[in-house]
Amino acid sequence: MSEVLALTRELIARPSVTPDDAGCQALLAGRLARAGFACEHLRFGAVDNLWATHGQGGPVLVLLGHTDVVPPGPRGDWSSDPFDPVVRDGVLYGRGAADMKGSVAAFVVALEQFVAAHAGHPGTVALLLTSDEEGDAIDGVRRVAEAFRDRGQRIDWCITGEPSSTRRLGDLLRVGRRGSLTAALRVRGVQGHVAYPEQARNPVHQALPALAELAARRWDEGFESFPPTSLQTSNIAAGTGAGNVIPGELRVDFNLRYNPLWDAPRLEAEVEGVLARHGLDFDLRWHRSGEPFFTPEGLLRAAAREVLANVAGVAPEESTGGGTSDARFIAPLGAQCIEIGPVNASIHKVDEHVSVADLEALPGLYLSLIRRLLPD
Ligand SMILES: [Zn+2]
Repeated sequence: MSEVLALTRELIARPSVTPDDAGCQALLAGRLARAGFACEHLRFGAVDNLWATHGQGGPVLVLLGHTDVVPPGPRGDWSSDPFDPVVRDGVLYGRGAADMKGSVAAFVVALEQFVAAHAGHPGTVALLLTSDEEGDAIDGVRRVAEAFRDRGQRIDWCITGEPSSTRRLGDLLRVGRRGSLTAALRVRGVQGHVAYPEQARNPVHQALPALAELAARRWDEGFESFPPTSLQTSNIAAGTGAGNVIPGELRVDFNLRYNPLWDAPRLEAEVEGVLARHGLDFDLRWHRSGEPFFTPEGLLRAAAREVLANVAGVAPEESTGGGTSDARFIAPLGAQCIEIGPVNASIHKVDEHVSVADLEALPGLYLSLIRRLLPD
């Protein structure tokens, strides 16, 4: 059995449902320490984070991943136990096989091989792992990035092992992600009888023109490979249920997915400006899920494109699609970020799996990338 398959199986056998790391990071830290890495365990709240480094100074290349997995759901729905890794017909099954214990195992194997062959490599090569990527993501990489900012830890390049490939390994290179911003809006009116509107103030009528303006707004024309910024209403509610009562308030939730032409404070100010211009009596609660990031053309993208083209046989699609990932916390430190990982068709599903051939190609893929970025 290959080293990466054996290690992935060891990780899957540890049922590390967020935020429980279930010993995954201790296992990996033990291996990396034997390979000469300095390992630091950063525990915040119930979350385990591991920071393992080899070498000195810059440039600093970080491989970023998570050891936690989403819950398997009813075990009876699986063809085999989600935490008992099995290979059937050249495919490895188990929770986390694709998202992302396979990539994490491949990172570790690649790092061991790299430092064994290039003990005196330039700069620093590092692995950052968290057990809180699939959950709240508060005490995970977000907190680690704050600690890095405080201690002046710089990062030049960050490669996340999230399953980015769509149909075959290496067909997609993620070079950015949109930002996400959620709002809970409450518009206050004055409740009253529908027959006496002069004695009430209808928050539905007050809010509709403002909501229509926000919904129709063209925020921008898109940026590089990012689509235009979009505001989508997700929930709207008002009224008592009675046909003769003007409601006292209106509640609306909406979300903005935005490209790097915007940041959260400017979007919040724009939205509040529209609401104020329409004379609404409102309050607004914002939740900032993560700023967008974008890695422009340069050494990292060029190296990744070349390595993926070698694996897949054709140049990868370079995309900024999908939801958010932990790279959103590392990018603001000034790092260029990309994401490269296995096929994502089965992630978070019953019978999550990865092809053994793809899994066994991953350490070599990451190793070529590390070699190109930190050449002797
Ligand atoms: Zn993941």
